[in-house]
Amino acid sequence: MNLYRLIYSSYGKANLSYHDLTEIMQKSDKNNQHDGITGMLCYGDSVFLQILEGDRAVVSKTFQRISRDTRHHSPELIEFVPIESRLFVEWSMKAVNLGQLKSEKVKKLLLKYSPSTTLKPSSMTGKQCINLMQELAEFYEQ
Ligand code: FAD
Repeated sequence: MNLYRLIYSSYGKANLSYHDLTEIMQKSDKNNQHDGITGMLCYGDSVFLQILEGDRAVVSKTFQRISRDTRHHSPELIEFVPIESRLFVEWSMKAVNLGQLKSEKVKKLLLKYSPSTTLKPSSMTGKQCINLMQELAEFYEQ
């Protein structure tokens, strides 16, 4: 098995609903468990940021399928690299919705790893995306 990590960002469709997000999460959980994929999906400021970890061919196929989904658009690949171990081993897909009114803690985390308190992965490196996601995961576990 070639263990890889893929990071991408995309824009949610204009009228994306809570129901859409729930449906995406349920499907991701089910498919990813079956496919040996772990990772995290973050949604905020109409933007998705997702990390997928697993077998290279499986991750690649999953990303192609996700890219065709009409609930988001303009996916941008940030990183697709071989890794020694997984970072999100506990989750088939950990979901974090930053919400419309972000908490002070979330704003500080965004400011720590990016130029502003708005989720804008296009102005972040892969490493910054990973650090942000890890800290968000920890925060939302509390
Ligand atoms: P089905 O659920 O039977 O879907 C068949 C087709 O219909 C697919 O092309 C699907 O994209 C489309 N479709 C289904 N429901 C809707 C809907 N409500 N609106 C528009 N199109 C729809 N899937 C994963 O397996 N793992 C992930 O980690 C993952 N992450 C995602 C992240 C984002 C930001 C988005 C938007 C979607 C994500 N998905 C993920 C969902 C993925 O895009 C596919 O919808 C899903 O994998 C298809 O599952 P399926 O093969 O069982 O087909």
